[in-house]
Amino acid sequence: MQTTSTPTHCPYCALQCGMNLSPTPEGGVEVTERADFPVNRGALCGKGRTAPEVLSSRVRLTSPLVRSGGTLVPATWDEALDRIAAELTRVRAEHGPDALGVFGGGGLTNEKAYTLGKFARVVLGTSQIDYNGRFCMSSAAAGGIKAFGLDRGLPFPLEDIPKSGCVILVGSNLAETMPPSLRFFNELRENGGTLIVVDPRRTKTAEQADLHLMPRPGTDLALALGLLHLVVAEGRVDEEYVRERTSGWEEARAAAMAHWPEYVERITGVSVPQLRETVRLFCEPESAMVLTARGPEQQSKGTDTVGAWINLCLATGRAGRPLSGYGCLTGQGNGQGGREHGQKADQLPGYRKLDDPVARRHVAEVWGVDPDSLPGPGRSAYELLDALGTDIRSLLLMGSNPVVSAPRAAHIEERLKSLEFLAVCDVVLSETAALADVVLPVTQWAEETGTTTNLEGRVLLRQRAITPPEGVRSDLEVMHELAARLGVEKGFPTDPEEVFEELRRASAGGPADYSGITYRRLAEENGVFWPCPAADDTGAADSTAATGATAPTAATGVTTATDATGDCEDASLDAGAGAGADDPTRDDDPRAGAVHPGTPRLFLERFATPDGRARFVPVTHRPVAEEPDDEYPVLLTTGRVVAQYQSGAQTRRVDELNAAAPGPFVELHPRLAARLGAAEGDPVAVVSRRGRAVAPARITTGIRPDTVFMPFHWPGEGRANTLTNPALDPTSRMPEFKVCAVRVENASS
Ligand code: SF4
Repeated sequence: MQTTSTPTHCPYCALQCGMNLSPTPEGGVEVTERADFPVNRGALCGKGRTAPEVLSSRVRLTSPLVRSGGTLVPATWDEALDRIAAELTRVRAEHGPDALGVFGGGGLTNEKAYTLGKFARVVLGTSQIDYNGRFCMSSAAAGGIKAFGLDRGLPFPLEDIPKSGCVILVGSNLAETMPPSLRFFNELRENGGTLIVVDPRRTKTAEQADLHLMPRPGTDLALALGLLHLVVAEGRVDEEYVRERTSGWEEARAAAMAHWPEYVERITGVSVPQLRETVRLFCEPESAMVLTARGPEQQSKGTDTVGAWINLCLATGRAGRPLSGYGCLTGQGNGQGGREHGQKADQLPGYRKLDDPVARRHVAEVWGVDPDSLPGPGRSAYELLDALGTDIRSLLLMGSNPVVSAPRAAHIEERLKSLEFLAVCDVVLSETAALADVVLPVTQWAEETGTTTNLEGRVLLRQRAITPPEGVRSDLEVMHELAARLGVEKGFPTDPEEVFEELRRASAGGPADYSGITYRRLAEENGVFWPCPAADDTGAADSTAATGATAPTAATGVTTATDATGDCEDASLDAGAGAGADDPTRDDDPRAGAVHPGTPRLFLERFATPDGRARFVPVTHRPVAEEPDDEYPVLLTTGRVVAQYQSGAQTRRVDELNAAAPGPFVELHPRLAARLGAAEGDPVAVVSRRGRAVAPARITTGIRPDTVFMPFHWPGEGRANTLTNPALDPTSRMPEFKVCAVRVENASS
């Protein structure tokens, strides 16, 4: 137990708020304010403030559990690890390596995500690895890569938002999902900027907006096309920017011109005057942004939808310009870093593509293996879960709870039950862990050191502040022990810094280049934005050019070109330009000449495409995978509430959060409630083609009459994901969580 306060970060969402952990007389820790971290400046939501309660929860797992006679019983670590190794060996011998599935999570640290990808490909030899981040941001990632050649959630710091002229926030309820971020939008409005919120519900975020558009769920693509049509029709295209910095405009323009405002009004329910007002507010200021979140992304056309909003930014000359551009508000704590270092089905560390021969050679050399021994791309998350019990016979799962969080969850629960062998690492007996053959109790955020990368692409150091309880081990120790039992003695260190040093080498020269980042820099500089190539790494220097990042001057390590405002004080706010980043005499990096400051802002001079131009992608409206009909006449959309996080595995164990949000509910419009004869609090059944969920009615005029909403944090009778549709986006393989057809019934009788 440390005796002084430890600066670290929240274990939950992608904001990764800074906090201090201070020791308590009882040997635990409490959260205290950490005002020096610029993202939250000391502010925390209830989830972050109460996070230490999970550390000492009475339901915390502190012993491995092994299924015996149908029941999970305590076992020694050796018994549990031996059982896993024996089962993985048996399944591989009987069915081949691709019968071994691995499923990770967007909450795992970079070190764990990196090691899990390496473990799957080097130790197990399986291609069947993916993670729950596929359910979170994959459409935005695919859209960003198509248009810009690179995906980094926000290509600029959150601190740019208040200085912009207008922000269109599409499908984000950040006032509930990441409350401290609301101040950036409040400051935007105080500074005279405009906030436009696109959401089918009048959320707490929408209540703050200057203009709230309430489109029918699943029509965000048509909405963006209608806005682009008006941009063209009203002569608001930035012709010079389009000519100098983009390609593909004519095709995108033609696609948009087929979407007349009146047609878009019929599809979306957003009136033509509202469309015109949105275009005016977006185009008149010198700078403007579009930020998307799960609303437009979790659709079977999520990649095209993101592409349509990016097209709007490109046509108006916004992307890659100061205080402007497109960004995605990633959801999970390490949703950004978790997708960069190899637990994704198609990727290698450094955000490299698994089917790129050059990338395979580079990473294989770091790993000390033959590039030809690395498997190719595997199934996406839902497809992997859907194959359990058939092609995939065993599953090793870390940092995820798909029984609650996967679409068509009852089906996925059955697939998990049909496995020959399931091993789960977790801190509590989650609904998925309860189905396992072996459960391994692992350390939590405050008990281990590691890095995460927040929604801005800012790499952060979470520091160990407390000794873990007897009986738990870290995920890195688990992989080290399993690798040894499966015949790989070296290459799986248990020290997170040692893993990070290898990750630096593996990422060098890739799009997400961490090679210039060290633990010491992260501690001293409050985080560093990637790409951050090592000073004399040739490949890394190439990556800086490829990502469109602006390189530092050799003398100072800081460039005014990364300062979007031209105001030197603002540059000092950037983590990469913080204390120590401009000191060429630093001794923490043996390769240091001029230390790269990191890259807070991308694309200011060029995009990360081969020709440096952003690419318009021609897209057209198409309906949702499941349109309402006579049998299922209403649309369901799902989301989160402020007091719970994701599947609720941790936050449902915190008394204060449970009291604030004890269970699911069905939000519906008074007209729909009247048709059902349902009053506030009455049980309402929501039925889709995949199942039935029942929860109390919450009646509000803040939702469209054709739509109901359910939060997805709970298992059991009110599990929203029993209902959701796994129809996949053809590019990102993102399921259509955000919209499906349902029937709503009064369940009182
Ligand atoms: Fe901050 Fe998110 Fe943690 Fe809340 S859950 S304290 S918003 S990082």
